Amino acid sequence: MLTVLESLQLSTEYLEKKGIESARLNAELLLAEILNCKRLDLYLKFDQPLKENEVDKYRELISRRGKFEPLQYITGKAEFFGLTFKVNSSVLIPRPETELMVEAIIERFKTADVLRILDIGTGSGNISVTLAKFLEKCFVTTIDTSDEIISLAKENAAQIGANANVNFIKAEMNSYSTDGVPFDLIVSNPPYVSMADYSETQREIREFEPATAVTDFGDGLTFYKLISSRLNNILKTGGSIYLEVGMGQAANVSAILQECGVRNINFIKDYQQIDRIVYGELK
Ligand code: GLN
Repeated sequence: MLTVLESLQLSTEYLEKKGIESARLNAELLLAEILNCKRLDLYLKFDQPLKENEVDKYRELISRRGKFEPLQYITGKAEFFGLTFKVNSSVLIPRPETELMVEAIIERFKTADVLRILDIGTGSGNISVTLAKFLEKCFVTTIDTSDEIISLAKENAAQIGANANVNFIKAEMNSYSTDGVPFDLIVSNPPYVSMADYSETQREIREFEPATAVTDFGDGLTFYKLISSRLNNILKTGGSIYLEVGMGQAANVSAILQECGVRNINFIKDYQQIDRIVYGELK
Protein backbone atom coordinates (compact mmCIF):
# COMPACT_ATOMS: atom_id res chain seq x y z
CA MET A 1 0.00 0.00 0.00
CA LEU A 2 1.19 3.49 -0.77
CA THR A 3 2.01 5.80 2.10
CA VAL A 4 1.08 9.48 2.26
CA LEU A 5 4.63 10.47 1.37
CA GLU A 6 4.89 8.06 -1.55
CA SER A 7 1.54 9.19 -2.95
CA LEU A 8 2.60 12.81 -2.69
CA GLN A 9 5.86 12.13 -4.49
CA LEU A 10 4.23 10.20 -7.32
CA SER A 11 1.48 12.78 -7.78
CA THR A 12 3.90 15.68 -7.72
CA GLU A 13 5.98 14.05 -10.42
CA TYR A 14 2.87 13.39 -12.50
CA LEU A 15 1.60 16.98 -12.22
CA GLU A 16 5.06 18.37 -12.99
CA LYS A 17 5.21 16.29 -16.15
CA LYS A 18 1.83 17.65 -17.19
CA GLY A 19 3.15 21.21 -16.74
CA ILE A 20 1.12 22.18 -13.68
CA GLU A 21 2.65 25.04 -11.68
CA SER A 22 3.31 24.45 -7.97
CA ALA A 23 2.84 20.71 -8.48
CA ARG A 24 3.78 19.70 -4.94
CA LEU A 25 1.43 22.23 -3.35
CA ASN A 26 -1.43 21.05 -5.57
CA ALA A 27 -0.69 17.42 -4.72
CA GLU A 28 -0.70 18.25 -1.01
CA LEU A 29 -3.91 20.26 -1.10
CA LEU A 30 -5.77 17.52 -2.94
CA LEU A 31 -4.56 14.80 -0.59
CA ALA A 32 -5.48 16.93 2.42
CA GLU A 33 -8.94 17.24 0.91
CA ILE A 34 -9.31 13.47 0.71
CA LEU A 35 -7.92 12.82 4.18
CA ASN A 36 -10.03 15.67 5.50
CA CYS A 37 -7.11 17.32 7.26
CA LYS A 38 -5.08 20.52 7.02
CA ARG A 39 -2.30 20.52 4.43
CA LEU A 40 0.42 20.81 7.06
CA ASP A 41 -1.01 17.88 9.01
CA LEU A 42 0.08 15.66 6.12
CA TYR A 43 3.63 16.14 7.38
CA LEU A 44 2.70 14.28 10.55
CA LYS A 45 1.27 11.39 8.56
CA PHE A 46 3.99 10.67 6.02
CA ASP A 47 4.21 6.97 6.92
CA GLN A 48 0.47 6.40 7.10
CA PRO A 49 -0.69 3.97 4.42
CA LEU A 50 -3.62 5.14 2.28
CA LYS A 51 -6.72 2.98 2.10
CA GLU A 52 -7.71 1.60 -1.27
CA ASN A 53 -10.69 3.94 -1.66
CA GLU A 54 -8.48 6.91 -0.73
CA VAL A 55 -5.96 5.98 -3.41
CA ASP A 56 -8.74 5.64 -5.99
CA LYS A 57 -10.23 8.99 -5.08
CA TYR A 58 -6.80 10.66 -5.02
CA ARG A 59 -5.96 9.28 -8.45
CA GLU A 60 -9.19 10.73 -9.81
CA LEU A 61 -8.55 14.21 -8.38
CA ILE A 62 -4.92 14.27 -9.50
CA SER A 63 -5.96 13.24 -12.99
CA ARG A 64 -8.46 16.12 -13.13
CA ARG A 65 -5.79 18.58 -12.00
CA GLY A 66 -3.44 17.09 -14.62
CA LYS A 67 -5.99 18.11 -17.24
CA PHE A 68 -5.67 21.70 -15.95
CA GLU A 69 -8.96 21.86 -14.06
CA PRO A 70 -8.45 24.54 -11.39
CA LEU A 71 -7.91 23.26 -7.86
CA GLN A 72 -10.87 25.27 -6.56
CA TYR A 73 -13.32 23.61 -8.93
CA ILE A 74 -12.00 20.19 -7.91
CA THR A 75 -12.36 20.88 -4.19
CA GLY A 76 -15.51 22.96 -4.76
CA LYS A 77 -14.34 25.85 -2.62
CA ALA A 78 -12.23 29.02 -2.66
CA GLU A 79 -10.93 31.30 0.08
CA PHE A 80 -11.79 34.99 -0.17
CA PHE A 81 -11.11 37.57 2.51
CA GLY A 82 -10.79 34.82 5.12
CA LEU A 83 -14.16 33.34 4.19
CA THR A 84 -14.81 30.05 2.37
CA PHE A 85 -16.98 30.27 -0.74
CA LYS A 86 -18.47 27.32 -2.51
CA VAL A 87 -17.57 27.51 -6.23
CA ASN A 88 -18.34 25.57 -9.38
CA SER A 89 -17.66 26.04 -13.06
CA SER A 90 -20.60 28.44 -13.45
CA VAL A 91 -18.70 31.16 -11.57
CA LEU A 92 -15.33 32.87 -11.68
CA ILE A 93 -12.90 31.74 -8.98
CA PRO A 94 -12.49 34.72 -6.60
CA ARG A 95 -9.08 36.39 -6.99
CA PRO A 96 -6.77 38.04 -4.43
CA GLU A 97 -6.86 41.33 -6.42
CA THR A 98 -10.57 41.55 -5.75
CA GLU A 99 -9.85 41.27 -2.03
CA LEU A 100 -7.94 44.55 -2.31
CA MET A 101 -11.04 46.29 -3.67
CA VAL A 102 -13.27 44.86 -0.94
CA GLU A 103 -10.70 45.77 1.71
CA ALA A 104 -10.54 49.39 0.51
CA ILE A 105 -14.33 49.69 0.59
CA ILE A 106 -14.62 48.19 4.07
CA GLU A 107 -11.85 50.42 5.39
CA ARG A 108 -13.43 53.55 3.99
CA PHE A 109 -17.05 52.84 4.91
CA LYS A 110 -16.77 50.90 8.18
CA THR A 111 -18.14 53.80 10.19
CA ALA A 112 -20.69 54.88 7.59
CA ASP A 113 -24.39 54.81 8.28
CA VAL A 114 -26.76 52.78 6.15
CA LEU A 115 -25.06 52.32 2.82
CA ARG A 116 -26.91 51.00 -0.21
CA ILE A 117 -24.51 49.10 -2.45
CA LEU A 118 -24.96 47.67 -5.94
CA ASP A 119 -22.55 44.88 -6.96
CA ILE A 120 -22.64 44.21 -10.70
CA GLY A 121 -21.74 40.59 -11.56
CA THR A 122 -22.43 38.40 -8.51
CA GLY A 123 -20.43 35.30 -9.41
CA SER A 124 -19.82 33.26 -6.24
CA GLY A 125 -21.06 36.22 -4.20
CA ASN A 126 -17.54 36.99 -3.01
CA ILE A 127 -17.87 40.79 -3.22
CA SER A 128 -21.50 41.19 -2.14
CA VAL A 129 -21.43 38.63 0.67
CA THR A 130 -18.11 39.84 2.07
CA LEU A 131 -19.28 43.47 2.12
CA ALA A 132 -22.55 42.43 3.75
CA LYS A 133 -20.65 40.43 6.34
CA PHE A 134 -18.16 43.13 7.31
CA LEU A 135 -20.25 46.29 6.79
CA GLU A 136 -23.14 45.41 9.03
CA LYS A 137 -25.08 48.55 8.31
CA CYS A 138 -24.96 48.18 4.54
CA PHE A 139 -27.58 46.72 2.29
CA VAL A 140 -26.24 45.07 -0.86
CA THR A 141 -28.10 44.38 -4.08
CA THR A 142 -26.23 42.18 -6.52
CA ILE A 143 -27.16 41.26 -10.07
CA ASP A 144 -26.11 38.43 -12.37
CA THR A 145 -27.60 36.74 -15.37
CA SER A 146 -28.30 33.10 -14.47
CA ASP A 147 -30.38 31.20 -11.91
CA GLU A 148 -27.53 28.77 -11.35
CA ILE A 149 -25.13 31.56 -10.35
CA ILE A 150 -27.67 33.27 -8.12
CA SER A 151 -28.55 30.08 -6.30
CA LEU A 152 -24.87 29.32 -5.60
CA ALA A 153 -24.28 32.86 -4.32
CA LYS A 154 -27.37 32.64 -2.11
CA GLU A 155 -26.06 29.42 -0.64
CA ASN A 156 -22.78 31.18 0.14
CA ALA A 157 -24.58 34.10 1.78
CA ALA A 158 -26.55 31.71 3.99
CA GLN A 159 -23.49 29.65 4.86
CA ILE A 160 -21.46 32.74 5.77
CA GLY A 161 -24.35 34.27 7.68
CA ALA A 162 -24.79 37.39 5.58
CA ASN A 163 -28.08 36.66 3.85
CA ALA A 164 -30.06 39.21 5.86
CA ASN A 165 -28.53 42.18 4.04
CA VAL A 166 -27.96 40.89 0.50
CA ASN A 167 -30.61 40.95 -2.20
CA PHE A 168 -29.94 38.78 -5.28
CA ILE A 169 -31.52 39.81 -8.55
CA LYS A 170 -31.38 38.08 -11.92
CA ALA A 171 -30.86 40.90 -14.43
CA GLU A 172 -28.74 42.08 -17.34
CA MET A 173 -26.79 45.27 -16.77
CA ASN A 174 -28.23 47.03 -19.82
CA SER A 175 -31.82 46.60 -18.72
CA TYR A 176 -31.43 46.76 -14.93
CA SER A 177 -33.01 49.74 -13.23
CA THR A 178 -33.38 50.57 -9.56
CA ASP A 179 -36.74 50.93 -7.90
CA GLY A 180 -36.21 54.66 -8.11
CA VAL A 181 -33.72 55.16 -5.28
CA PRO A 182 -30.16 55.37 -6.60
CA PHE A 183 -27.35 53.57 -4.77
CA ASP A 184 -24.67 55.11 -2.52
CA LEU A 185 -21.94 52.85 -3.89
CA ILE A 186 -21.41 50.77 -7.01
CA VAL A 187 -18.83 48.02 -7.16
CA SER A 188 -17.93 45.63 -9.95
CA ASN A 189 -15.31 43.20 -11.15
CA PRO A 190 -16.65 42.90 -14.69
CA PRO A 191 -15.35 40.60 -17.45
CA TYR A 192 -12.47 42.74 -18.71
CA VAL A 193 -10.19 40.49 -20.75
CA SER A 194 -10.34 41.55 -24.40
CA MET A 195 -11.15 39.06 -27.12
CA ALA A 196 -7.57 39.38 -28.37
CA ASP A 197 -6.05 38.58 -24.95
CA TYR A 198 -8.49 35.81 -24.10
CA SER A 199 -6.73 33.20 -26.23
CA GLU A 200 -3.51 33.98 -24.33
CA THR A 201 -4.95 33.32 -20.86
CA GLN A 202 -3.85 30.26 -18.85
CA ARG A 203 -5.41 26.93 -19.81
CA GLU A 204 -7.08 26.75 -16.40
CA ILE A 205 -8.96 29.96 -17.21
CA ARG A 206 -9.66 29.38 -20.90
CA GLU A 207 -10.79 25.79 -20.61
CA PHE A 208 -12.62 25.84 -17.28
CA GLU A 209 -13.76 29.25 -16.07
CA PRO A 210 -16.95 30.66 -17.64
CA ALA A 211 -15.91 32.74 -20.65
CA THR A 212 -18.67 35.27 -20.00
CA ALA A 213 -17.17 36.02 -16.58
CA VAL A 214 -13.70 36.59 -18.03
CA THR A 215 -14.06 38.35 -21.39
CA ASP A 216 -16.43 40.86 -22.99
CA PHE A 217 -15.61 39.34 -26.40
CA GLY A 218 -14.64 42.87 -27.43
CA ASP A 219 -12.00 45.45 -26.53
CA GLY A 220 -12.15 44.66 -22.80
CA LEU A 221 -13.84 47.98 -21.99
CA THR A 222 -17.45 47.12 -22.90
CA PHE A 223 -18.71 46.79 -19.32
CA TYR A 224 -16.95 49.94 -18.11
CA LYS A 225 -18.68 51.89 -20.87
CA LEU A 226 -22.02 50.27 -20.14
CA ILE A 227 -21.85 50.84 -16.37
CA SER A 228 -20.63 54.42 -16.82
CA SER A 229 -23.38 55.27 -19.30
CA ARG A 230 -25.99 54.21 -16.73
CA LEU A 231 -24.45 55.90 -13.68
CA ASN A 232 -26.88 58.79 -13.62
CA ASN A 233 -29.75 56.32 -13.19
CA ILE A 234 -28.22 54.03 -10.61
CA LEU A 235 -25.76 56.05 -8.51
CA LYS A 236 -26.69 59.04 -6.39
CA THR A 237 -24.88 62.37 -6.66
CA GLY A 238 -21.76 62.16 -4.51
CA GLY A 239 -21.97 58.35 -4.54
CA SER A 240 -18.86 56.22 -5.01
CA ILE A 241 -17.87 53.74 -7.68
CA TYR A 242 -15.18 51.05 -7.36
CA LEU A 243 -14.14 49.02 -10.41
CA GLU A 244 -11.54 46.30 -10.81
CA VAL A 245 -9.67 46.65 -14.12
CA GLY A 246 -7.25 44.62 -16.20
CA MET A 247 -3.56 45.34 -16.68
CA GLY A 248 -3.13 48.58 -18.65
CA GLN A 249 -6.81 49.55 -18.51
CA ALA A 250 -6.77 52.03 -15.59
CA ALA A 251 -6.19 55.16 -17.69
CA ASN A 252 -8.88 54.20 -20.23
CA VAL A 253 -11.41 53.35 -17.54
CA SER A 254 -10.61 56.58 -15.74
CA ALA A 255 -11.30 58.55 -18.95
CA ILE A 256 -14.59 56.70 -19.51
CA LEU A 257 -15.71 57.45 -15.94
CA GLN A 258 -14.63 61.08 -16.17
CA GLU A 259 -16.69 61.57 -19.29
CA CYS A 260 -19.75 60.31 -17.41
CA GLY A 261 -19.30 62.73 -14.52
CA VAL A 262 -17.06 60.82 -12.11
CA ARG A 263 -14.54 62.98 -10.23
CA ASN A 264 -11.72 62.51 -7.66
CA ILE A 265 -10.58 59.40 -9.53
CA ASN A 266 -7.85 57.33 -7.86
CA PHE A 267 -6.13 53.99 -8.40
CA ILE A 268 -5.13 51.17 -6.08
CA LYS A 269 -2.19 48.97 -7.09
CA ASP A 270 -2.22 45.19 -6.81
CA TYR A 271 0.59 42.95 -5.51
CA GLN A 272 2.41 43.31 -8.84
CA GLN A 273 2.24 47.12 -8.67
CA ILE A 274 -0.34 47.19 -11.46
CA ASP A 275 -3.13 49.79 -11.17
CA ARG A 276 -5.95 47.34 -10.45
CA ILE A 277 -8.78 49.26 -8.81
CA VAL A 278 -10.21 52.53 -10.14
CA TYR A 279 -12.50 54.52 -7.87
CA GLY A 280 -14.16 57.91 -7.75
CA GLU A 281 -17.31 59.83 -6.99
CA LEU A 282 -20.21 60.96 -9.14
CA LYS A 283 -20.39 64.74 -9.19
N1 GLN B 1 -17.95 39.24 -8.44
C1 GLN B 1 -17.35 38.03 -8.88
C2 GLN B 1 -15.84 38.10 -8.68
O1 GLN B 1 -15.29 39.12 -8.47
C3 GLN B 1 -17.68 37.69 -10.31
C4 GLN B 1 -17.07 38.58 -11.32
C5 GLN B 1 -17.28 38.10 -12.73
O2 GLN B 1 -17.98 37.12 -12.96
N2 GLN B 1 -16.65 38.79 -13.66
O3 GLN B 1 -15.19 37.11 -8.69
